[in-house]
Amino acid sequence: MTDTITATHTPPAGDLFSKFDDLIQTRETLLASGVEDPFNLVMEKVLSPTRAVCNGRETILLGTYNYMGMTFDPDVLEAGREALTEFGSGTTGSRVLNGTYQGHRECEDALKEFYGMDHAMVFSTGYQANLGIIATIAGKGDYVVLDIDSHASIYDGCAMGNAEIVPFRHNDIEAMEKRLRRIPEGAGKLVILEGVYSMLGDVAPLKEMVAIAKQYGAMVLVDEAHSMGFIGENGRGVCEEQGVIDDVDFIIGTFSKSVGTVGGFCVSNHPKFDIMRLVCRPYVFTASLPPSVVATAATSIRKLMHGANKRAHLWENSRTLHKGLTDLGFELGTKEPQSAIVAVIMPDLERGAMMWEALLKEGLYVNLARPPATPAGMTLLRCSLCAEHSAEEVQTVLSMFERAGKAVGII
Ligand code: PMP
Repeated sequence: MTDTITATHTPPAGDLFSKFDDLIQTRETLLASGVEDPFNLVMEKVLSPTRAVCNGRETILLGTYNYMGMTFDPDVLEAGREALTEFGSGTTGSRVLNGTYQGHRECEDALKEFYGMDHAMVFSTGYQANLGIIATIAGKGDYVVLDIDSHASIYDGCAMGNAEIVPFRHNDIEAMEKRLRRIPEGAGKLVILEGVYSMLGDVAPLKEMVAIAKQYGAMVLVDEAHSMGFIGENGRGVCEEQGVIDDVDFIIGTFSKSVGTVGGFCVSNHPKFDIMRLVCRPYVFTASLPPSVVATAATSIRKLMHGANKRAHLWENSRTLHKGLTDLGFELGTKEPQSAIVAVIMPDLERGAMMWEALLKEGLYVNLARPPATPAGMTLLRCSLCAEHSAEEVQTVLSMFERAGKAVGII
C-alpha cells in the first residue's frame, strides 16, 4: 500500500478502478497531512504475544486478536514443528480429495471436545467458514435475519447464497422479533448473531434472542470469533456464558484469534451436518490448511480447555484498562468492560489517525478502525487485550494514552 499513484502508467480508458477514486483521495489527503499510514505498519520482529519491533522500536501490542497469548506457547510451537517435519509444508489439495490428513481430523476432534458437540468442520479461514455455512444453508427464498453490525463475512455469505437479508438494529431484541414476525409462513429462517461484536467489544443478549428465534422456528448461527477461549466458564463463548449453547444450531469460530494461528470452523449437533462436507463450496473448492497449522490449532484448543487462570487475568486486564481510560476522560464503546476489546471513540478520522500515530511513537500499537468496518461512521482506536499482558504493562499503556491524548488534544 506504499505505492500511491505513481505516474509511470496512466489508467486505461473505461478504467474499472475509477469507483475507488473517492477513497484514494481521502487516503491521500490524510497522508499528505504528514501522518504515518495506519494501514501499512510492518512488524519487523515479533518478540512475544505482546511485544514486537515496529519502525525499529520495541512496541507493546494492544491491537492484535491474540487474546489468550497462544502464539508463542511452547507446546503449540513444538506441535507445529513436528507436523512440519513429518507431514511437509502443505497439503496441496482440497479436504474432499487429497487434503485431509490425520491432523485435520485431530483438530476437528479437539473442537468437538472443546464445545461438547457432535460435529466439527475445519475451514481454511473464519471468513470462509461464514461464507460457506451461510451460503450453503440459506439459499434463494430463505430469510436471514441478522444484526446490522454483523461481520463482512456474514454479509458476504448471505450474498453468495442469494437469501433475503433482513437486518435489525444492533442488539435490539424487539427489532429482531418484529423482523421474524413479518417473514412469510413456511419460509426457511436463519438468525445470525455474534457473541462479541468486534468493533465496540459489546456482547449480544443471546439468551433472549435465541429464545425468540426458536419461538419463531428459526435456526440460529452464532459467530463466536471474539469470545472463544475467553468468555464462558470453559471458554466456549457467550453461548456458554448465557446458557444457550444447547439451543444454537451452529457456532462459527476462527483460529486467528484466541487459538493463535489461522483457520476457521463450524461446530453443530445437527444430525445431518456431515453433508456439508460435500455441498459447501468454500470447503470443497479450496486447499486445506497446512499440517503445521492444524497441529498448532489442535494443541492450542486443547490447552484453552484448561485456561481458567489466563481467562481470569485477561478479565482483570480488561477491567483495569476500561476503568483507567474512563478515568482519563476517554469516551469508550461500552459503559462496562464486556470482552477483551476496549474501543476508544475518536472525534474524527483525522484526530484518530493523529492519536494512533502519537501512540505508536510512545511505543504502543492499537487498531485504527473506520467505516465501513465501524458502526455509525465512527473512528475508533480499538484496544484488544491479551492474557499475557502483565498488570504493569496495562499501567504503562494507560500512561501512554494519557500523554498521547493530551498531546493530540483529545483529553
Ligand atoms: N467473524 C468475525 C466476527 C470476525 O471478526 C472475523 C475476523 N476479524 C472473522 C469472522 C473471520 O475470521 P478469519 O480471520 O479467520 O478469517
